[in-house]
Amino acid sequence: MNEPPLPPASTKPDSTRARDFRGDIIVLLGTTTGLVIAAFALYRWINGQHFMAWLDAAIALAVASPAIYTWRTGDSQRAGLVLCALNSLACLAVCWIVGPSAVGWVYLVLLTNFFITERRPALLANLALTGALWLVPDLFTDRFHAVSVEVTALLATVFSFIFASHSQDDRVQLQQMASLDALTGVPNRRAMENVLTRAVADFHAGRCCYGLVVLDVDRFKEVNDLYGHSAGDTAIADLAAILRFEMRKQDQVFRFGGEEFVALLELDTRNDLEAATERLRKSVRGSLRGPGGQITISLGAAMLTEHDKTWHDWFSRADAALYRAKSGGRDNYVIADDLF
Ligand code: GH3
Ligand code: MG
Ligand code: MG
Repeated sequence: MNEPPLPPASTKPDSTRARDFRGDIIVLLGTTTGLVIAAFALYRWINGQHFMAWLDAAIALAVASPAIYTWRTGDSQRAGLVLCALNSLACLAVCWIVGPSAVGWVYLVLLTNFFITERRPALLANLALTGALWLVPDLFTDRFHAVSVEVTALLATVFSFIFASHSQDDRVQLQQMASLDALTGVPNRRAMENVLTRAVADFHAGRCCYGLVVLDVDRFKEVNDLYGHSAGDTAIADLAAILRFEMRKQDQVFRFGGEEFVALLELDTRNDLEAATERLRKSVRGSLRGPGGQITISLGAAMLTEHDKTWHDWFSRADAALYRAKSGGRDNYVIADDLF
């Protein structure tokens, strides 16, 4: 209620929005590496090096396959592991066949492994590759060359590992900042939109039933006006804690904005939704206190139905029910009429 208007429903499919940073790197790296190696294959073929041309062509295809798989499915985890293993094996094979002039490629592989898969498998692949180089006959011109390559390869791996660890921590922190509300620690509206979009898709795929509860603190402006903004903030944080406590494992609560929260509940019937909504009202009524005493909430709830094509349709019905609960005197709930 009284929040900024809902944005128009996104027409972008969820899977494209979910494609991650690593997936983008795999697609970019797999295709560009595949194309570069394919160009090498052509060059060697023209120069009569047919065996090497076939080998390059096979490597180009192998490296491009995980990229195509990721691009089609969005599954970057499996593709990244496969590409990391292929990258390392192909590099070893090229060192074995070409000899010392291929050593430069080792560093590129050691670096890129950290971009395409998790830190640990990348570290393992790099250590295995670095160790296996000792076994390649005639790869090193002398002992000094061998030690230099091994030491610099290990240093490249250590620095890449440190860099990958930092950037992964930063990514996790950024993701949290983008999806969690700073005051209450519960997921914010952005996270809610993603979760509700998925719930609607699940429901239309015949997987599950959901109820949505939209709730708003009653006469909250008075709390702010009489006791100050920080007392209001404390009340909002306390409300979030109560709601979190009331959620079962399969339920989720979000801060929609201001003193308005949304609960997504996994349940089968309108009666279950009504019981859960009343439980939330009573729990908040019994536990939420401000400097001026008891604080209450009003709630509107709606089951997800086949008429709800987007989460906006569903949310609007629950929000309209909340409006009716407010008009009906507050500290109560209304379940949206599911008849159309
Ligand atoms: P109603 O019973 O009709 O809901 O009355 P209300 O006074 O609660 O009205 P409304 O829901 O429109 O009030 C929202 C108020 O919440 C306005 C704003 O000052 C306050 N508010 C919004 N976000 C925050 C916040 O993060 N902290 C604090 N302290 N206050 C907030
Ligand atoms: Mg209010
Ligand atoms: Mg409000």
